[in-house]
Amino acid sequence: MKVLLKNAFLIDPQVELNIKGDLLIEDGVISKIDTSIKENVDEIFDLKNLVVVPGFADAHVHLREPGREDEETVQSGIEAGMNGGFSALCCMPNTEPAIDCAEVVTFVKDRAANSLVDVYPIGAVTKKREGKELALLGEMYEAGVVGFSDDGDPISTSKIMKYALEYSSMFDLPIIEHCEDKSLTENGVMNESINSTKFGLPPHPSLAEVIIALRDIAILRYTGGKLHLAHISAKETVEVLRLAKKEGLNITGEVTPHHFSLTDDAVENYDTNTKVNPPLRTQQDVNALIEALKDGTIDIIASDHAPHSIEEKEWEYIYAPFGMIGLETSIGLTLTKLYHSKILSIEEIIYKMSINPRKIFKLKEAVIKPGAAANLTILDLEKEWIVDKFSFKSKSINTPFHGWKLKGKSAGVINNSKFFFENKLIDLI
Ligand SMILES: [Zn+2]
Ligand SMILES: [Zn+2]
Repeated sequence: MKVLLKNAFLIDPQVELNIKGDLLIEDGVISKIDTSIKENVDEIFDLKNLVVVPGFADAHVHLREPGREDEETVQSGIEAGMNGGFSALCCMPNTEPAIDCAEVVTFVKDRAANSLVDVYPIGAVTKKREGKELALLGEMYEAGVVGFSDDGDPISTSKIMKYALEYSSMFDLPIIEHCEDKSLTENGVMNESINSTKFGLPPHPSLAEVIIALRDIAILRYTGGKLHLAHISAKETVEVLRLAKKEGLNITGEVTPHHFSLTDDAVENYDTNTKVNPPLRTQQDVNALIEALKDGTIDIIASDHAPHSIEEKEWEYIYAPFGMIGLETSIGLTLTKLYHSKILSIEEIIYKMSINPRKIFKLKEAVIKPGAAANLTILDLEKEWIVDKFSFKSKSINTPFHGWKLKGKSAGVINNSKFFFENKLIDLI
């Protein structure tokens, strides 16, 4: 089947593409790119005022299958991802049972088979994520994981981290760390600050984050391997990451849209949707994260999409689970807060949301050139819209952004010969 995308802005910094023009796709493969293409085709889509970029990948997502299919399934996660503008998702292993062996990796991959969105499981570092014994990393590598993490929890001890970095370097896959010294965050539910005192909530200091980052960097320096710091929230962590990179260590870092869009002031009304781990920090931390996005210290933007049931999020602030959903607001928040505020160019956003995550986790490449499989995200940079959590495809609605006015949205995704556009899934074969 021949499909022509017309009148779009085509942007891919990997091949120095930045033109207004047309793109021809034949049986799911890009066959021609030009300012104007005239050709007999099966279908034409007018993408006037829309921007076509390499398919975005969200490297940090929690799908709740197996175990909590009431909150999210692989399928509903795929639909939320597609609706949010992603053609690839990496899913964390804190399911029930945990993704800690080949069998569960294969189970998740099978659930995602033949979908527009590629789903890449991340394997647990320790068996059952209990922090005691290294999981079967080699077996999970063979089954197709793209990294290892005990996310939800930090890697329990220096010894396990040392083994994990040593083993994973045999497969050239990163260890993804949730930096949290649990001895400092026990019972903590929000950032330790003047606000935690004012709101009377148990504190979760940024010190807990930087201590584990420092520990892991020391181990990385000793063992080699690849370390990726997930959801960096604090200015101190940004600083140690910056120094570790200067030193030449193989380390990367990630930030979520909620950590650069909100401060701990948002906890004021005790909305449990603002309860996340790591917690929302101060304006100074937000400024440091933004600076780190600009200077390249932070490599990727990932949502840390963490669905939870309404019942559980209705518990009191101290008892409610940590996490908010993010797949369907990630692009809107990024474009509003970073692109329209002139902090990052569209090319830089393409690096943070497509090129870098694909490179760090060795996902399928997405590049806009003839001969490449069409793996694309289509953006409407100027679209103003109001976040409506009830319109989401995710099974959960735990977001504090309901009612927010954003500028910029995904308009469609193409991958695996499928096209999600105007709320319809179209086959391109
Ligand atoms: Zn985490
Ligand atoms: Zn997470």
